[in-house]
Amino acid sequence: MNDVFALADDLGPLKVIHVHEPGIGLRGVLVIDNIARGPSLGGVRMAADVTTEECARLARAMTFKNAAAGLAHGGGKAVLMGDPKMPRAQKDTLVRGFCCALRDEEQYIFAPDMGTNEEFMASIKDEIGRVVGVPRELGGIPLDEIGATGFGLSHAVAVAQDFCDLRIEDARFVIQGFGAVGKHAAKFLCAAGAIPVAVSDSAGTIYNPDGLDIDALTALKSAGKSVIEYDKAEQRDGDAIIDIECDIWIPAARPDVIHEANVHRLNTRMVVQGANIPVTYAAEKILHEKGILNIPDFIANAGGVICAAIEYQGGGEAAVFASIEEKLCRNTREVLEAAQREQILPRDAALAMARRRVDQAMSHRRWHIF
Ligand code: NAD
Repeated sequence: MNDVFALADDLGPLKVIHVHEPGIGLRGVLVIDNIARGPSLGGVRMAADVTTEECARLARAMTFKNAAAGLAHGGGKAVLMGDPKMPRAQKDTLVRGFCCALRDEEQYIFAPDMGTNEEFMASIKDEIGRVVGVPRELGGIPLDEIGATGFGLSHAVAVAQDFCDLRIEDARFVIQGFGAVGKHAAKFLCAAGAIPVAVSDSAGTIYNPDGLDIDALTALKSAGKSVIEYDKAEQRDGDAIIDIECDIWIPAARPDVIHEANVHRLNTRMVVQGANIPVTYAAEKILHEKGILNIPDFIANAGGVICAAIEYQGGGEAAVFASIEEKLCRNTREVLEAAQREQILPRDAALAMARRRVDQAMSHRRWHIF
């Protein structure tokens, strides 16, 4: 338990719960970080190598993301140990066992994350009811299908263009990771007039300076293929996506992909973080020194959690798009103005804003963090 207490500070975590049921091979962790703003909201991640520490870091990130987005939710996260590609029935048993073990933890609302999806959220709804991100037929709003996060990213770019003398019309953009976030970000940016010149997935990169057909690429992915099977572009290896000259570079795949050793290879004017923690803090400092505008993850990719919070309140899809647009535009502007005014990194401005919102909520509570 020492590692968990080493992570604790004046914000949290409030609770760390280990779940173990050897009968079905279930091992999982729930971290409820801070619930001053309301019941915690954050996804259930399934991966073979997740740790309690990672869960605690992700729960803290949700405290800040939810506060920054002005949601009446605190931050929490659950991780389930196991290979997400295990047989469906086995995975369903683990998910059902995990949520049943956490049935009484009413200050945590289950949601999908990497390795889980709306199908497993339906199982949680069946068992305990306290979940968002369920299928449409159960009253859910399928956030990946409607492109909630990609829609939000496109609005972050629309605001950010004023801060780096860039015009979204004709801006050339690159996306690392053509999945739920990446393909919808591409679709909405194209609708605003921007031009996709390169995208990648786990199989490699494709590049065409004259532009890529996003509908054709989306159809390839829906058919279970890779973007490298698109034939109107030059193929490069996965890492080559970093070097491609563009106006807007969007990481939408894995954590820590841009770090001190490769940040100098980026040849862009703006980085918009679709993935969670895709750029290390040291690399963000270098971007700042080089005058490359950087919009931090929990500001730019909040569309998904805003959608989840609206589903929780019983709202509909029209309310989702209006709310994402309003919150993403306001927050991006507030963060970039503060960064400019105080000559600090956008991440530091974003953290200060989120921290202020959590502190304000805590000031009304009898207990500090719950
Ligand atoms: P996804 O699984 O739908 O898509 C990920 C894509 O990245 C896939 O196309 C995959 O092939 C590709 N990929 C994997 N490794 C890669 C690599 N090394 N190089 C290039 N591409 C690679 O996932 P997603 O839902 O789009 O999420 C992507 C990231 O965004 C994750 O970090 C996730 O935590 C974050 N995020 C997602 C949402 C959401 O609404 N889905 C919201 C906030 C943050």
